[in-house]
Amino acid sequence: MMKLLRDSIRNLAEIPSITVRKNLSSAAGVPKEMADCVVIGAGVVGIAVARELSLNFARNVLVIESASAFGTGISSRNSEVIHGGIYYPTNSLKACFCVRGRRLLYEYCNKHGIPHKQIGKLIVASRHEEVPKLNYLRNLGNENGVEGLRMMEGSEAMALEPELQCVRALWSPTSGIIDSHSLMLSQTGEAESHGTTFCYNNTVVGAHLEGKQIHLHISETESLKDWDRKSQRYPDVVLLPKLVVNAAGLSSAALARCFSGINRGVIPQSYYSRGCYFSLSNTTAPAFRHLIYPLPEDGTLGVHVTLDLDGQVKFGPDIEWLNDIDDISSIQNKFDYTVRADRAKEFYPKIRKYYPSLKDGSLQPGYAGIRPRVSGPGDGFVDFIIQGEESHGIPGLVNLFGIESPGLTSSMAIAEYVAAKLSNC
Ligand SMILES: Cc1cc2nc3c(=O)[nH]c(=O)nc-3n(C[C@H](O)[C@H](O)[C@H](O)COP(=O)(O)OP(=O)(O)OC[C@H]3O[C@@H](n4cnc5c(N)ncnc54)[C@H](O)[C@@H]3O)c2cc1C
Repeated sequence: MMKLLRDSIRNLAEIPSITVRKNLSSAAGVPKEMADCVVIGAGVVGIAVARELSLNFARNVLVIESASAFGTGISSRNSEVIHGGIYYPTNSLKACFCVRGRRLLYEYCNKHGIPHKQIGKLIVASRHEEVPKLNYLRNLGNENGVEGLRMMEGSEAMALEPELQCVRALWSPTSGIIDSHSLMLSQTGEAESHGTTFCYNNTVVGAHLEGKQIHLHISETESLKDWDRKSQRYPDVVLLPKLVVNAAGLSSAALARCFSGINRGVIPQSYYSRGCYFSLSNTTAPAFRHLIYPLPEDGTLGVHVTLDLDGQVKFGPDIEWLNDIDDISSIQNKFDYTVRADRAKEFYPKIRKYYPSLKDGSLQPGYAGIRPRVSGPGDGFVDFIIQGEESHGIPGLVNLFGIESPGLTSSMAIAEYVAAKLSNC
């Protein structure tokens, strides 16, 4: 696989006007290679960043991905909802990127034929006491620039969705669903056709600074599997890029802590919370046609109804905090995605608040995703964290931390922002 990385770099070197120079002088026998831009992680955000840098800034990008394919991390384990931008404090990065990202995403989907449906969403109050919270969300959404929000009486919402039970609902017509794999496939292809190279099965394991130049340490993912963590390891290759975007999703903060020379004080603590989904079995017709969300709880959007593009209904995600994931396990991608069937018993009462006729035994375990949190249980709102040299002191490095929901919706806006931030480097 290291051959793959070498070939990728060689391919870049063969493209005229690209600033990749071969320099195999080695310290401790480790080859060093020059590069223009390196993006760490081929999830929806890393791909969007690579596309933006290569397409609109004519940069030569190398994407290093530890898995054997793009989009196997958080980006393939989510609700695939295009969010309106309602829930987040006005002017926060989440609010701004969600609204801007949604518009860019619909435009992109329409232009490139990415399967999606703007099916709209109902946020529902199941009891009269919840109505003030719904009003609060409507006002917040309006302040955030979310188009078309409208309060509905329960009767109108229940006419729209006959299985639904609610006293009032907030209708968000700009919310929708997307085939995120098709999105990533399309953007990967576009990035590649503008000179980006994707290098799979290689893991960035750390970095150090020499003067102002970052040296990225890269190892074959396979070789890390049996690493006992006690013995010292040398990377298989060291890259010397001008720009680095750390879009490593769940492990971006863990990885940044392995960059020597960085101001560690600004790197947030990592927290991980698993969210499981259950699907609805034994149904001939889909129970719902729109996204149905309860009011947010426990720092999540609540166990909601989402649909895939074939109309299959799923419920989730719940929240389960994962402890004992140290930084090395995170970088080795040792996450447990098991959905335990017994978690269903907590889903039934939550779903029956708005879908009272849900039958016993109708929930089947689906899949799980893990949120890359930068705050723990009970903490309030925390925004996306995007740090450049001004925060951490390393020129040309941008770290992306806590890119949880609405990261899929926001991906193209995050990419715009990151590329603009690096445009003078
Ligand atoms: C349960 C759940 C539901 C969600 N629902 C929605 C939703 O409906 N709508 C929405 O907008 N957002 C949603 N999100 C958020 C959204 O899925 C994420 O914000 C987004 O997918 C993050 O993409 P990413 O590229 O940052 O991370 P990832 O997709 O995880 O990509 C990071 C990549 O980096 C690679 N990597 C990691 N470490 C290294 C390393 N050291 N070296 C090389 N490669 C490395 C990983 O293998 C991975 O492929 C949800 C998230 C979760 C967890």
